[in-house]
Amino acid sequence: MAFEGLTARLQNVFGKLRGRGKLTEEDVNEAMREVRLALLEADVNFKVVKDFIAKVKEKAVGQEVLKSFTPGMVVVDIVNKELTELMGGTQAKLAQAGKPPTVVLMAGLQGAGKTTLTGKLANLLQKQNHKPLLVAGDIYRPAAIKQLQVLGEQIGTPVFTLGNQVSPVEIAKQGVQHAKDNGNDYVLIDTAGRLQIDEALMEEIQNIHAAVKPDEVLLVVDAMTGQEAVNVAQSFHEKLALTGVVLTKLDGDTRGGAALSVKAVTGCPIKFASTGEKIDQLEPFHPDRMASRILG
Ligand code: GDP
Repeated sequence: MAFEGLTARLQNVFGKLRGRGKLTEEDVNEAMREVRLALLEADVNFKVVKDFIAKVKEKAVGQEVLKSFTPGMVVVDIVNKELTELMGGTQAKLAQAGKPPTVVLMAGLQGAGKTTLTGKLANLLQKQNHKPLLVAGDIYRPAAIKQLQVLGEQIGTPVFTLGNQVSPVEIAKQGVQHAKDNGNDYVLIDTAGRLQIDEALMEEIQNIHAAVKPDEVLLVVDAMTGQEAVNVAQSFHEKLALTGVVLTKLDGDTRGGAALSVKAVTGCPIKFASTGEKIDQLEPFHPDRMASRILG
């Protein structure tokens, strides 16, 4: 699972702090130096780490903290709160249009887990008594349409497709109309990804965006790619006004830094975390729970 290395290191630092009755300013500074290294080693963005440490120090070095009965615990608590804030503070929910259907556009690079996520999200929505429609807008990857159909069949969700000879913009438009005609309250549009960000990819997804005016634009990013995940998020956000990020593959032995940096760098909330290939391995992202998990 992600963060194992980071958790072990932080537990070590905080174990030492908690063990002491009294703390001096130098003790806190020393601990913060170690936290800084641990975060950098976990692949958290350099600038994010710098700001984070500055914020924690500002709160932790004051006389009140040092004079408290359990200063170590107070410092750990401050770190926990700042980590939660760093990842967005509160849980960011999926958008819901005032007038259905809610249109959700999926964006991301090939292999990030977009098609899988589209199925998982439909599954989650159905459990909440929604009636989603999947739209097969990835016409370039040979197996993408079939993959979505298989997922749809598995969970009993209708899949709208016009094959791979019609433009994705047209497919998206007709898909939304189909949802309106059939009483689907969510439309999840799968789109094509490329191996790298390129102009054709951006132009196409911008055109789809203009045609269907989505209520939610979710960027699916592979947490295993570390810092690259943050760069990808930044580039997409500049072009597409993302409304949320989904981190996938948090089950891998990723160092986890992406999860900690992506909100701070892009300002975009992380809405879901995917932790495996199975259809039910998707969870709403809770910054506070993630912070507690990281601190162990
Ligand atoms: P797309 O090209 O973005 O549509 O990516 P896919 O949905 O086809 O996913 C690419 C691969 O990643 C597939 O083999 C998925 O099973 C796998 N995958 C997707 N999400 C996760 C996840 O959270 N954890 C793991 N371990 N694998 C995932």
